[in-house]
Amino acid sequence: MSDLQSHNPSWQLHCPISIPDNGEVITLSHGEGGRLMRRLIHEHIISAFGTMPSDSQAVHQNDPLLLMDDAARLPAIDGEIALSTDSFVVSPLFFPGGDIGSLAVYGTVNDLAVSGARPLYLTLSLIIEEGFPIALLDHVLKSVSTAARHTAVQIVAGDTKVVPRHAVDGLFINTAGVGQLVDPIAPGANALCEGDELIVTGPIGQHGIAVLCAREELALEPPPQSDCAPLTRAISVLRERMGMRIRAMRDATRGGVAAVLHEWAGASKQTLTINQCDIPVSPEVRGACELLGLDPLHVANEGTMVVAVEPGHADCAVEILRSLPEFVHATHIGSVTKKGISPVTIARTLGPEQPLDDPLGAPLPRIC
Ligand code: MG
Repeated sequence: MSDLQSHNPSWQLHCPISIPDNGEVITLSHGEGGRLMRRLIHEHIISAFGTMPSDSQAVHQNDPLLLMDDAARLPAIDGEIALSTDSFVVSPLFFPGGDIGSLAVYGTVNDLAVSGARPLYLTLSLIIEEGFPIALLDHVLKSVSTAARHTAVQIVAGDTKVVPRHAVDGLFINTAGVGQLVDPIAPGANALCEGDELIVTGPIGQHGIAVLCAREELALEPPPQSDCAPLTRAISVLRERMGMRIRAMRDATRGGVAAVLHEWAGASKQTLTINQCDIPVSPEVRGACELLGLDPLHVANEGTMVVAVEPGHADCAVEILRSLPEFVHATHIGSVTKKGISPVTIARTLGPEQPLDDPLGAPLPRIC
């Protein structure tokens, strides 16, 4: 086995392409600002997001990445803007249903979208470990490009750093996103009122369990698939059809649905109550959680959100979501109730209503 393979097998674990032993790898010189770095940027990074122009005079100012200036110059945005940033350190880099590239785009795009913004621009910063195969980097960049096209966001600026072996685990990515706030903007968790209804947009815990099974090589059949996907379409359809009836939206990432409910309970000073039998969980995730002693409510999602709507509008919201093929499992899971002793309660299948734990930390590290 080569040094490259023995150093960090997770680079290749579950990778959808096979990497030749003698393939080109990233060296420290690729991050040093010289010819090698320029070649890496032009031939691998810029080429993933658009063709280099032959004459820089011909570049329109809407192609800020191609200008290669120190900062991207962007057209004025009408009204307020939203800005979000997130870093991605998922292990392994490839998992059923996605990879670090798609995750880095959808993670930031979803944060903008649930905040009421139309995502417009992203920056992309790569921190690459010396020895990382360039073929794998190309694969990740292609995922970034596909996800950006899918969500109509433009990659407008970026950065590349290379660090010595063992200083990072293969590849870390940071994305920052800019979006335009679009009316109507949901008032948010502070505005939750007694009687508001809670919806989840799909089966929960898919992402965390998919990553965990890939990392630990748990041979579950069928392998759990991550829900890593954009929420932009669901949000725009919901906003179009329900307008101000939407009280709050939040993507249920680290800490899962339970973390969102606890944050909302804290912000609104109400109690949020959910029914266990209504919560959509796939048989694979249910099985894996039982095996591992996890509660799917605490497991991360990357394309599933919790939505709160005004009293009496959950059925309408669920019907709208279910009209989209990706959200056919959207479900009304509970409601906001008068403040009780516990901030979040769950009516289990058997027995009385119980408090739902607020996750102390992530049960699964490095899932995003
Ligand atoms: Mg979020």
